Amino acid sequence: MINADQKKLLTNFRKEETDILTELSSFAQKDSRVDGGFIVPYPNEGTGLDENAREIEEFERLNALKNNLAKRLRDVRATITRIEAGLYGQCVNCFSSIEHTRLRVAPVARLCISCAKLNPREA
Ligand SMILES: [Zn+2]
Repeated sequence: MINADQKKLLTNFRKEETDILTELSSFAQKDSRVDGGFIVPYPNEGTGLDENAREIEEFERLNALKNNLAKRLRDVRATITRIEAGLYGQCVNCFSSIEHTRLRVAPVARLCISCAKLNPREA
């Protein structure tokens, strides 16, 4: 059962998924070897020392941005799947309900507060 709040969340998450994909495709290419993966092409501004330094800097900046967006995309997609399956708001670890206050702050949360404390890297 999907309630009205979840329907609204689903609409918002689908829009965010489209926005992230648009932003990613503006500077990165899809990585066909990894599902949902993206590659930042190495910039080529020239062969001078200054240009090479700028290329490395730019490449690192875009890679960091790409990693953040790709992680958010994974979270958003996983949340869409959980809403559609009627499992939204249920902790994936202990299956109890995730606290409403936590979901309000972090709508993509997969773990309840106590499980998140035990698995800080998973949360
Ligand atoms: Zn839990």
